Amino acid sequence: MKFATKAIHAGIEPDPTTGAIMTPIYQTSTYVQESPGKHKGYEYARTQNPTRTVLQNNLAALENGQHGICYASGLAATDAILKLFKPGDEIIASNDLYGGTYRIMVRVFQEYGLKFKFIGLENPSALETAITPATKMVWIETPTNPLLRIVDIQSIAAITKAKNTLLVVDNTFASPYLQNPLDLGADIVLHSATKYLGGHSDTVMGALILNDDELTKRLEFIQNACGAVPGPQDCFLVLRGIKTLHIRMQRHCENALKIAQYLSQHPKVSKVNYPGLENHPQHELAKRQMRGFGGMVSFELHGDSLPEAVRVMESFQVFSLGESLGGVESLCTHPASMTHASIPKEEREKNGLKDTLIRLSVGIEDVDDLIKDLERAIG
Ligand SMILES: *Cc1c(COP(=O)(O)O)cnc(C)c1O
Repeated sequence: MKFATKAIHAGIEPDPTTGAIMTPIYQTSTYVQESPGKHKGYEYARTQNPTRTVLQNNLAALENGQHGICYASGLAATDAILKLFKPGDEIIASNDLYGGTYRIMVRVFQEYGLKFKFIGLENPSALETAITPATKMVWIETPTNPLLRIVDIQSIAAITKAKNTLLVVDNTFASPYLQNPLDLGADIVLHSATKYLGGHSDTVMGALILNDDELTKRLEFIQNACGAVPGPQDCFLVLRGIKTLHIRMQRHCENALKIAQYLSQHPKVSKVNYPGLENHPQHELAKRQMRGFGGMVSFELHGDSLPEAVRVMESFQVFSLGESLGGVESLCTHPASMTHASIPKEEREKNGLKDTLIRLSVGIEDVDDLIKDLERAIG
């Protein structure tokens, strides 16, 4: 089956009791057993829920994986992965990372004795140098947030495979419509389903997709033991969102490219980050690795003035200023004070994230109105 058909049908059957075409919201905490231990595969809703099962199977199909596990949030999924490790284990993560991922690693799990190294991984040879026998996992995001750099999943996976190390790819920015890391050698794909998968800014959820049966069992054990499960209503919303993922992503990509091109020729704009631009340093890699370039664009203004960047962000009428991304509506974010505030300023600047960078999550409105909004705001 091709993507659009899978998005609508994979893992989804009409409800066996009524024929309801939409998966019901099984709002229940427990399931009646015929005799002790004799049940229909569902015992208690922390462990399993039918609405969640359908979503997990659908997500697994979209990422070409065997297993899906859904969590209360993207960070709950990250938390579960980090609980696979023991004090002294070392994790290498790319340095252009979602702020919350950096925070849970450094502020929570480093306290428990896990060791983290953050390095630039746009050049995979940096990993060859940094990896040691203690390295148990490599964690990448691509495109990266908020600088929209591209990490070569296949080259990184060749190194992690040779060293017998897990590779996790946070695929939130691309969505499974544009990129499938398991096909490129990753072991675990992570999504903040809050973003493009849900797509309507109405729920918070996370997901992991993987092939390995043993690793799936360990993660399911951790989930059941620790309890970070999503509610059935949220599973329903994400399932509904996914039915239009492909057409939303097509429009996100079209609009973002036009906006990146518009910004590139704007005299007040000094830098535009978008992997779909031919002058993006990794445009060729993005073309190979992705089926489109996504809906995220970031840019800087000439003069590097923070008050001027703030004035622009305050002047938008169609773009809303807010955290998050991936919804149908356009959002603008100031990474330094919002999504990435949990990364120390000197760490941010070392990685090229300036305090004046503006990040756009380009929505699926009419692009002419979005460009007019930028024109008015930048002036
Ligand atoms: C939002 C986000 C997360 C965290 O997901 P939540 O659902 O907010 O917990 C992780 N990675 C990326 C790239 C994100 O954008």
